[in-house]
Amino acid sequence: MFKEVVDGSKEIARGMGVTFKRLFQQPISNQFPDEPVAVYPRFRGRHVLKRHDNGLERCIGCALCAAACPTECIYVEAAENSEEDRHSPGERYAKVYDINMLRCIFCGFCAEACPTEAIVLEHDFALARYSRWDAIYTKEMLLQPHEPKYIVIRDDKVFVEVNGWGN
Ligand code: SF4
Ligand code: SF4
Repeated sequence: MFKEVVDGSKEIARGMGVTFKRLFQQPISNQFPDEPVAVYPRFRGRHVLKRHDNGLERCIGCALCAAACPTECIYVEAAENSEEDRHSPGERYAKVYDINMLRCIFCGFCAEACPTEAIVLEHDFALARYSRWDAIYTKEMLLQPHEPKYIVIRDDKVFVEVNGWGN
């Protein structure tokens, strides 16, 4: 009985110690979206389809990303490039490239599987929408230059300013 009381008291003291320590730390809650949220450089958010410096699409429509995706949320339909209608440097390009963000688990396997580094998971996490259909990101949406509005990139204590935010 006495041992139980001592052990219980120790646990309570330990718990109160954690609470007491927290009193002197900065709150971790964030007034989103009035304040930006800091994410680490390796944070995986919304996908972006990249282009080469000359403007051609990096994606060659090989569908390796779709094959690697554990939730089968990528749909790729390839077509042949021609000299009059060239989209990518290779023989083929992605005529259709859709990602269903409702199924995506942001594992990054698609980016790892891509041989041309065309698909990249960047930092935007603000993907709320009112319609399920808006969660289907088309190739046109993914190719748009994308600047997330609600984040700063943090590298431990160093905050890198993005879109005017940072400290
Ligand atoms: S991040 Fe993972 S789940 Fe999402 S599209 Fe890529 S492979 Fe699929
Ligand atoms: S994003 Fe990469 S892996 Fe996916 S179809 Fe395009 S080139 Fe292939």
